[in-house]
Amino acid sequence: MKLSRRNFISKSTFVTIGSLLTLNSITAKEFAETKLKARKNKPVVISTWSHGVAANEAAWEVLKNKGKAIDAVEKGVMVTEADEDNSSVGIGGFPDRDGKVTLDACVMDETGNAGSVSFLQHIVHPISVARLVMDKTPHVMLSGEGAFQFAIESGFKKTNLLTEKAKKAWEKWKVKSEYEPVINIENHDTIGMVALDSDGNLSGACTTSGLAFKMHGRVGDSPIIGAGMFVDNEVGAAVATGMGELVMKTMGSFLIVEFMRNGLSPQEACEKAIDRIKQKLPDYKNFQIGYLAINKQGETGAYSIHKGFNYAKYNKKGNNLIDAGHLLKD
Ligand code: ASP
Repeated sequence: MKLSRRNFISKSTFVTIGSLLTLNSITAKEFAETKLKARKNKPVVISTWSHGVAANEAAWEVLKNKGKAIDAVEKGVMVTEADEDNSSVGIGGFPDRDGKVTLDACVMDETGNAGSVSFLQHIVHPISVARLVMDKTPHVMLSGEGAFQFAIESGFKKTNLLTEKAKKAWEKWKVKSEYEPVINIENHDTIGMVALDSDGNLSGACTTSGLAFKMHGRVGDSPIIGAGMFVDNEVGAAVATGMGELVMKTMGSFLIVEFMRNGLSPQEACEKAIDRIKQKLPDYKNFQIGYLAINKQGETGAYSIHKGFNYAKYNKKGNNLIDAGHLLKD
């Protein structure tokens, strides 16, 4: 049939509306499924290592009362920061080569806002300073002396973070002064936490004293938005622990969120990001990296290079410590 202009317009309009309807109905279906899954799964919080169990308890207090994910993750990791027996986060963290405890931390919320501090000394809760950088300044990261000044001006107290136990460990280390990254250092490293709240919003937090006996001035992945932690409220969130240099070189957390954006589950995304390290960094076997991820539906995933990485997950079923899968079957 020869198409008149009128015919053509009405036919193409029909096709366009038809495809729009199909597109809309797929999107609407997907949207409905996402909402349904999220309703079943939320709220949920996951965090790195066994110290995540106690941290999750504090986060859950916020989440179960319909609080915001950003408040939950801040409150959660503060528990680990304040724990003097924990030698890799906050007070009690092992110092650098010069005997100084230097801290890295970051937060990111559902609006895409982010705050971080690096190389911060003398402050027990770097995560709350990072939160204030996010909430009260036009910047994302404050570092070293400037971060400390900002903390003091904001009402934080100057505190000696080097405990007797940490000082003794440092003195023992000084005898040989050999720096060797130990895989799964005593099984408790950085605390990284990501959560989905009752409103379906995602946030994350990450805080650490970094590698024990590191070079003075060394900053790891934990305060680097996109490396140590990343949140995109449309897609998901991810957080890292382990040898930060490998995470920084591959932009681990951002990569995981992008993999999820392209349709991978949180578990598949973590595995693919570990595989990226394997592809790009030939000495990867010498180090441990652990990733955690959560998506908008409240599904979670975890993966590491070596055996030994675990994480805590708190949802309606309770607070459980779970062993992550790992790449090397050693
Ligand atoms: N990722 C941290 C850092 O490299 C340390 C860790 O998680 O063990 O500073």
